[in-house]
Amino acid sequence: MATRSSPINLKPETVNTPIVIAIDGPSASGKSTNSRLIAKGLGYAYVDTGAMFRAFAWFCLKRSVNVHDSTAVAAELRDWNATLECVDGQVRLLVDGYFPEKEIRTAETSAAVSPIAAVLEVRMWMKEAQRSCVKFGNLVMEGRDIGTHIFPETPLKFYLDASAEERSRRREAEGVKDDLAARDQRDSTRATAPLKIAADAIVINNAGETPQQTSERMLTEIRRLMAERK
Ligand code: C5P
Repeated sequence: MATRSSPINLKPETVNTPIVIAIDGPSASGKSTNSRLIAKGLGYAYVDTGAMFRAFAWFCLKRSVNVHDSTAVAAELRDWNATLECVDGQVRLLVDGYFPEKEIRTAETSAAVSPIAAVLEVRMWMKEAQRSCVKFGNLVMEGRDIGTHIFPETPLKFYLDASAEERSRRREAEGVKDDLAARDQRDSTRATAPLKIAADAIVINNAGETPQQTSERMLTEIRRLMAERK
């Protein structure tokens, strides 16, 4: 089961406030790998918010909902029985008590996720669930709108990026069929909480770097920012 981290002390009055590290960026920009490494390095819980949206997309597909019909998608939230748990430092979303780990990574789910993620009611549900994750302690949370909408108050924000060619190569190397360009286009042009760089985010282009190099750079920035706030 989950092991809880010891919080890094900031100012005395913030000692008991969980720390959130927000990591945003387009698909295959290295968010998951680096977020996991950073969470492990700091002993924080890791939250993959893309997996939460994917779980809802999978739920809609399972129920034969037209994912391009926003009214029908929003109506599915009424029957959606989802809970959060933290296991071994990783937060995961269960649907009717089941964690659809493999199902959320299929090409079919990948194609359905951006349309459902553009629905306002879905984003409202996700925001509440994602903010509630502080109950698991300090967090490294990755997604598209964490620094801009979910935890805009955190001073620890990163935006990861790499060229479209490099990101496509990474997905191909993983053997995953995924139309990154279409997803990125939808994610950055939707009306609600589009993917964009928060004004105070540290932008890291990690092309040509190993995850160890990128996560070390990020940890150095985190330590610097934390030291500044002491
Ligand atoms: O991170 P991942 O590629 O698994 O995310 C899948 C999709 O979920 C994204 O393409 C996007 O449509 C949606 N998403 C989002 N906001 C987040 C995380 C993911 O809209 N915070």
